[in-house]
Amino acid sequence: MKTRQFQAESKRLLDLMINSIYTHKEIFLRELISNASDAIDKNYYRILTSENITFDKNDFYIQISIDKDARTLTIEDTGIGMNMEDMEENLGTIAKSGSLAFKQQVSDTDSESKDEVDIIGQFGVGFYSAFMVSDKVTVISRKVGEEKAFRWVSEGADGYVVEECEREKEGTTIILEIKENADETDYDQYLEDYKVRSLVKKYSDFIKYPVKMGDEVINSMVPLWKKNKSEITEEDYENFYKEKHFGFDKPLKSIYYSVDGVSSFTSILYIPGRTPFDFYSKDFERGLELYSNNVMIMQKCQDLLPEYFGFVQGVVDSQDLSLNISRELLQHDRQLQFISKKIKEKIKKELLSMQKDDRENYVTFFEAFGRTLKFGLYSEYGMNRDILEDLIMFYSSTKKELVTLKEYVERMGEDQKYIYYATGENVDKIGKLPQLEIFADKNYEVLFFNDEVDEFAIRVLASYSEKEFKSISSGDLELEKENDESEENKKESDQNKELFDFVTESLGGKIKSAKASKKLKTHPVCLSSEGELSIEMEKVLSMMPDGGGVKAEKILEINTSHKIFELLKESFVNDKDKAKKIARVLYNQALLIEGLSVEDPVEYANDVCSLMM
Ligand code: ADP
Ligand code: MG
Repeated sequence: MKTRQFQAESKRLLDLMINSIYTHKEIFLRELISNASDAIDKNYYRILTSENITFDKNDFYIQISIDKDARTLTIEDTGIGMNMEDMEENLGTIAKSGSLAFKQQVSDTDSESKDEVDIIGQFGVGFYSAFMVSDKVTVISRKVGEEKAFRWVSEGADGYVVEECEREKEGTTIILEIKENADETDYDQYLEDYKVRSLVKKYSDFIKYPVKMGDEVINSMVPLWKKNKSEITEEDYENFYKEKHFGFDKPLKSIYYSVDGVSSFTSILYIPGRTPFDFYSKDFERGLELYSNNVMIMQKCQDLLPEYFGFVQGVVDSQDLSLNISRELLQHDRQLQFISKKIKEKIKKELLSMQKDDRENYVTFFEAFGRTLKFGLYSEYGMNRDILEDLIMFYSSTKKELVTLKEYVERMGEDQKYIYYATGENVDKIGKLPQLEIFADKNYEVLFFNDEVDEFAIRVLASYSEKEFKSISSGDLELEKENDESEENKKESDQNKELFDFVTESLGGKIKSAKASKKLKTHPVCLSSEGELSIEMEKVLSMMPDGGGVKAEKILEINTSHKIFELLKESFVNDKDKAKKIARVLYNQALLIEGLSVEDPVEYANDVCSLMM
């Protein structure tokens, strides 16, 4: 029996290891299963490269068993095994990877079988993660082709003991004596069958050898993305979506995407059909599941998805990632940036083709996630317009459905200079805006902005296909220039100047001015705005904690062909007090139509009553 201290360096490293390298204790199982898989790979490679050895595929497997009474979790493999030297070399020296050496040796000597072995280990620390959950670790191993077996036992930093022992077959058994529950850590869970199964599923589902508990194989072994693309059915995609808990719905679209070359990766991406309930909350975590060599290394890799595509679910597998010692990603990895760029472009392409060929599904998609695309346009000062401007849609006054900006612009007549839009709370309410009448008359299409972010996003965009956007509530619609009555209107406006000044004054600074409207037909009044800030933006901003107090410059437009205008005119001459009340009522009505609230409802009610009497 040999009692050994870990090398000094190793001792410090082991301590570091147990306490700080890994964020999640549960990954110990992933590390041990990966090691077992590596060991079987090496055995398999040995058999492949030597003649006269016959083998049965069933000989290669990993067995997990639990003994609750003894508090042990055991992982057994039919791999290459270790003799005493191997144990001292690989388990006695932390940060020494036998697997890395093997990998280098294989690729140096034999480039043909190189593809057959994709060894997972490379840092030589994974094994020690066992000490995060165990008081004592025992390794019993017999190397292939050798008669003697050895037992390696360690209780952590103090060192280890190796002695000869018996083992019926070649291979390795690792026995973990699981720690007692501590204040904040539940170790008992690692002795629960369901927990261990779920950990195998989570991290090691695609290990290529069977991982068994009892007689049952619990891993899927072949990842969906390693299958031939042409053989994957829609059902396979949907099952995988459910298995991975990407959503309870049926995905709208499943995408298989793989890139080969200097950097290569394979991915399966999904566009979900429904908004997750927490999608627009802080709790929602976007990201794709990231695999390196079929082993899961990150469940929600954010860097793979821009925020505006945060709804996309899926997995990415790449062999070319730079991982750090705890198998976590190096930040700002160039390969990762490359993958993320490719994926972004792919998603855009797929969404565009869905928009074109499968409009019904696209509308479903857009209703679920359109907002996040519009937020994407708005954020980062329009940096993402190339990706997003063709993906967004708005309800159209003429088509009565969602349309794209491209479709709108293609339909614009020659005389139409702007892309017109109307803002409001919902499509119904916008549809009733008095200003819309004249657009209907001229047969101009108007886009309805019923989402708070819409107008902000469009301001950032400023124009689409060189056509500027214009709100139908803006003061200078420029429709009027083409209006025949324009001269007449101006004359009338001059004539009534005194009256309009009176109205403006009566409203005590609430409006910038009053004028004769050129857009109203049957309705008596409406509001328009001048300057940068629209009335809709005022509404949105006033709801924000620090946005109160900002006001749009409002213009009260009065329909001079309306009967009420006659009354106003007459009262202006005969009864100034009544004229004042009419002005206030008209202003308040215009506010209500715009969806703003009346500032003094009591005064308004009294005004209306007194006018009715
Ligand atoms: P890595 O896997 O990165 O090489 P580990 O700390 O996980 O590092 O393992 C260290 C070494 O111990 C491995 O490279 C391998 O040589 C050896 N080893 C670990 N587990 C086994 C096993 N089940 N069978 C055979 N060898 C093993
Ligand atoms: Mg390892």
